[in-house]
Amino acid sequence: MKRIAAINDEIRWQAVLNREAEADGQFVFAVLTTGIYCRPSCRARHALRQNVRFFPGADEARAAGFRACKRCQPDKADPHQQRIDKVAQACRLLEQEQTLTLEQLAKEVAVSPYHFHRLFKSTTGMTPRAWQQAWRARKLRESLKESETVTDAVLAAGFPASSSFYRHADDTLGMTASQYRRGGDDQTIHYALGSCLLGRCLVAGSSRGICAVLPGDDDETLLAELAQMFPNARREEADPTFQQQVAGVIALLDGQRSSVELPLDIRGTAFQQLVWQALRSIPVGETRSYQQIAEAIGKPQSVRAVANACAANKLALIVPCHRVVRQSGALSGYRWGVERKAELLRREGVTGKQ
Ligand SMILES: [Zn+2]
Repeated sequence: MKRIAAINDEIRWQAVLNREAEADGQFVFAVLTTGIYCRPSCRARHALRQNVRFFPGADEARAAGFRACKRCQPDKADPHQQRIDKVAQACRLLEQEQTLTLEQLAKEVAVSPYHFHRLFKSTTGMTPRAWQQAWRARKLRESLKESETVTDAVLAAGFPASSSFYRHADDTLGMTASQYRRGGDDQTIHYALGSCLLGRCLVAGSSRGICAVLPGDDDETLLAELAQMFPNARREEADPTFQQQVAGVIALLDGQRSSVELPLDIRGTAFQQLVWQALRSIPVGETRSYQQIAEAIGKPQSVRAVANACAANKLALIVPCHRVVRQSGALSGYRWGVERKAELLRREGVTGKQ
């Protein structure tokens, strides 16, 4: 029993030496010579190991007669959680019709405007302004289905003036508001079904380029998946030219090619596009963790959002989300099944744990 405690203390000491923020909240450490206890991530200079004792939490350290460090405030709520709470509060404030300035928002959550902007962006991957626009776009999609006129819908979604909205409509909806109102019926998506080593596969393209590559078990499910992705577009079976492009995609799925030189129609939020771009730069035969991708796009806090963006990928293999694994090397989830992920990585020469 004693041995195990000693090993755990060594792990805790390593966390202290590395100032691991992830260890905050799991334990505190106290220094005999100063009588002060700290969070693992405290920036203060480290004491000698022999003078350090570990406690499960602030209460235990205080009961043993130690005082809380003024710098890392281990008796207060976890600072990471405090920051997340502030961002969550700001998100709720942004999800209303009234437009708040950055200064007003920052004041509401008691942070300076400069820090608030940085904090919001590093947590959500979006600026407060983009967050509000995304929320309004979602509202707009909902109300366009109900409202009599586009202008009504635009106003109902909380856009301040419809004129400024129209200029950004194409960015917001991926098509103009009127087109969207008509159910996106100006958009035609061509698709083709084929067989690859992974099973069946569906490849779809818009006028802009390849917009979906979906491996699956049966055609019916694949067509349903496509309908769900592009509910308002006209979906038609592809012509011979497109069929030829599909052959190239299937060669990619079968591992006979490492890339396709086709125009892509990658649709997603700005954040998703950033993640997908990062995934496309992972070389064949290598893997990255979700954390590494989050760091690569300059948003080290957004690991969960990165995982969500991987799960939202519409272009199997072209955007190689199968090359993202857990930090431990475990494969974890894959939109098209962990077995397919394992098979793809095996083929690329990666031997991962499952
Ligand atoms: Zn401290």
